[in-house]
Amino acid sequence: MLRFAPSPTGDLHIENLRVALFNYIVARQRNEELVVRIEDTDKKKNIDGKDQEILDILDMFDIKYSHTVYQSENIKYHRQMAIQLLQDKRAFNCFCTPETLDAQRAEAKANKKTYRYDDHCTELSPEQTIDNNNPFVIRMKKPKGDITIEDKIKGKLTFTPDEIDSFIIMGEEKFPTYNFACAVDDMLSDISLVIREEEHMDNTPRQAVIRNALGYTTEIEYAHLPKIADADALSIKSLFEEGYLPSAIANYLISIGNNVAKEIFTLDEAIEFLDLEKISKSSVKFDISVLKNINRQHMSMLDDKELSKYVGFADAQIGALAKAYLDEVETLVELRSKIEPIFKTKEIPLSYKENTDLIKDCIKKAPYFEGYSEFEKYVMTETGLKGEDFLKPLRFVLTGTENGPDLSAIYNGLKDVLMEVIK
Ligand code: GLU
Ligand code: ZN
Repeated sequence: MLRFAPSPTGDLHIENLRVALFNYIVARQRNEELVVRIEDTDKKKNIDGKDQEILDILDMFDIKYSHTVYQSENIKYHRQMAIQLLQDKRAFNCFCTPETLDAQRAEAKANKKTYRYDDHCTELSPEQTIDNNNPFVIRMKKPKGDITIEDKIKGKLTFTPDEIDSFIIMGEEKFPTYNFACAVDDMLSDISLVIREEEHMDNTPRQAVIRNALGYTTEIEYAHLPKIADADALSIKSLFEEGYLPSAIANYLISIGNNVAKEIFTLDEAIEFLDLEKISKSSVKFDISVLKNINRQHMSMLDDKELSKYVGFADAQIGALAKAYLDEVETLVELRSKIEPIFKTKEIPLSYKENTDLIKDCIKKAPYFEGYSEFEKYVMTETGLKGEDFLKPLRFVLTGTENGPDLSAIYNGLKDVLMEVIK
């Protein structure tokens, strides 16, 4: 079983979504299930409704999963296992006050050293524990030897006991920390492979220490995806608002830093060819111009009716018209800005007014023409206009602008709604 473990504490960002996509793809490749685990144990940071928003986004990307788990539902297990770790002396109560720890942190900083917990409470006697009325946290004892992780992307990662440190697994309120809840839940769900962002790389040995101490021997594989540079705070919601298609965003996020078989592909195709182990080890650059180009190509891949929905219609003919504009636009927002004015009252420049009036009157009386050339011939004959005197005003009457795609493409898209368009 693989898992995607978002925290409902903010908007889903492109790096989170990339993690979800890779987990989904690899789960499909391995024929394993994917669970979505909502990591909601940090009550103060949770934002109401973010969980559902994240699940809705996964749906829009066609990322299917077998079920969801809310981490907070597992707190009873986290507590049980913390008790076991204390009994086995693999964990200990730490009474050090935040003030003491802050002072130690400041001192380490002043000496340009990395702060480590000083293991003050590691071996407190039962008397020392009972005589202490201070609030306490629970810490894991740091391991005795190095911890090695074979990462499928980064290769062999080795962490010393000091790097791992005697870290906190439960806070004063006796709620699990991220590392503890995550380590236990991955165990409870029988996770086989963890694919996540590289910012969690330092957490991986800590999670291994917890599971080792609990006697869990099943090996969990890891793959840490490289950072996407220059993409801070880029939320999926904002990309939707800017007019990017889910299929294009997915295409881009899968290809970034990756040696993909082709430039444009669907999620199903990516399942065929993606090789998780071939992804770049080092950070990759976000390039909006590449995404724009991919987006345009995905817009053109939509069938006409589907595309029309993104510009506010449900009509294949309008979709075909929209496609005629794809050379000029890169996002759905830009596409909408081309299609919407066609259906609004048009500002006709005074210099065209005389001819546009003639054309409009003519169209109102004209029979229906299937093809543009017959239509054009009819209007030219009836109005007596030709060349630019005919083409420019006609374009204004139909689209309200001076330039744009071929008039025949425009006519084909609008021939069934001409009266509405020329009004
Ligand atoms: N909730 C963590 C995050 O969103 C999950 C990390 C993990 O996959 O273990 O970053
Ligand atoms: Zn302590």
